[in-house]
Amino acid sequence: MTTPHYIDGRWVEGQGNDCITVHEPALGLPFAELMSASTAQVDQAVAAARRALPAWKQTSAGERAALLRGFAEQLGARREDLIALQMRNNGKPRHEAEIDLDDAVATFTYYADLAEQLPEKNRDVPLAVPGFSARTRLEPVGVVGLIVPWNFPLVTSAWKLAPALAAGCTVVLKPSEVTPLIEQAYGQIAEQLGLPAGVLNIVNGKAETGAALSGHSGLDKLSFTGSNGVGSQVMRASAVQCRPLTLELGGKSAIVVFDDCDVDQAVEWIVAGFTWNAGQMCSATSRLLVQDGIADALLPRLQEALEKLRVGNPLTEEVDMGPLTSQAQWLKVAGYFATARDEGLQCLAGGKALDREGWFVSPTLYVDVPQSSRLWSEEIFGPVLCARRFSTEQQAIAQANDSRFGLVATVCSADLQRAERVADALEVGHVWINSVQAVFVETSWGGTKGSGIGRELGPWGLSAYQSVKHVTRCLG
Ligand code: NAD
Repeated sequence: MTTPHYIDGRWVEGQGNDCITVHEPALGLPFAELMSASTAQVDQAVAAARRALPAWKQTSAGERAALLRGFAEQLGARREDLIALQMRNNGKPRHEAEIDLDDAVATFTYYADLAEQLPEKNRDVPLAVPGFSARTRLEPVGVVGLIVPWNFPLVTSAWKLAPALAAGCTVVLKPSEVTPLIEQAYGQIAEQLGLPAGVLNIVNGKAETGAALSGHSGLDKLSFTGSNGVGSQVMRASAVQCRPLTLELGGKSAIVVFDDCDVDQAVEWIVAGFTWNAGQMCSATSRLLVQDGIADALLPRLQEALEKLRVGNPLTEEVDMGPLTSQAQWLKVAGYFATARDEGLQCLAGGKALDREGWFVSPTLYVDVPQSSRLWSEEIFGPVLCARRFSTEQQAIAQANDSRFGLVATVCSADLQRAERVADALEVGHVWINSVQAVFVETSWGGTKGSGIGRELGPWGLSAYQSVKHVTRCLG
């Protein structure tokens, strides 16, 4: 792939310092290479977005909505290719890759609908004081930088791109160096739909390219999804420029299981909550809090379910879980297995890398994990579950909230009043009751505490790319 960067409506070669090797994690083998974008090319992309902004923000909301619908249709037209690429490059099982594609399509369609409703939002404001009129204008924030990770590349980019374009912003997107091919589809679709040059630019690269974008003085806003470590660097860069940012960061989320649950159903929720995408989810519910009355029945069944999970190459086998997406992630998870051994944690399932080619680990369960353990408090980003018991509702809430993160949580109980009460008490951005990882475009996404700043999806996702202006007129 020699021209991987889409700048000012043209595909260009990378002139940066980094060679990016793209891997097939199920085999641990490379299958593509590209050169990163240079700092000068990031400058060109931001300048192109700046030039494109005045005309793009003057387009009608209806015109933008039509283009967003075009994105949704064209994603559908590339469905098989994009599913295959996600399976190959991310190691996703087919059904997961299909859900990602459907999510991206739904996101573009949803923001097309919201764009169409924009004219109604620019309306008069009733005032209590006579003699004045006032009206609201929701204006695009301007040129935005979008930096995304590798775990849900199609989806995470859609959650930023669709609302940014709907609002009338122009963008520079930097995909992850681990999965740089998937978002090429967005550039190809932009070209095919005749999106004006510079409205959408894509620069690929590693930290150097990301830092050139996040620190660029030509941006009006940055929206970042990724780790807390890089998030804090990006926040510092935005502070220097005194400009707004959205941060979608990590998590260490709880799943709370009360003893009135059906054991088999609870096991299903628990397994899905931490093994989907091989546990590489910011929203993985990787801390299990299980009530005393059900723990002895549930934990052996959970162990059994994990041992039965089919782990393998999604391109050649029927699997429930694929490999970890990168060697770095595989080494990180293996490091946590070593820490667990050093800490003397009790392992009921997994706890090791698989003895085969590729970057596979077993789905893993540690029980009676002390709150002082690193595995209890740190985001592992792999299929590793740590369990603790509780006796009262208050204990469950206190243990669930005892985290520096606050992204999501799941509450499982047959007593819906209790489940709603616990949901209200949890310090997170999203709670699922008797379900896991169900994300709808109409509801918000984002966290409290160390999990980030701001919200994506729903009307909040659009507001993130809008600036509110009021025009007040004296009628006298
Ligand atoms: P990461 O922070 O390493 O990288 C994210 C992006 O930042 C990549 O595109 C990377 O190239 C870029 N980058 C790296 N160094 C940079 C720098 N100095 N300046 C600017 N950009 C830089 O994260 P990752 O490993 O790709 O993704 C995993 C993390 O993402 C996990 O912590 C996970 O919880 C988080 N995540 C959060 C959400 C959410 O919605 N809250 C969603 C998905 C992933």
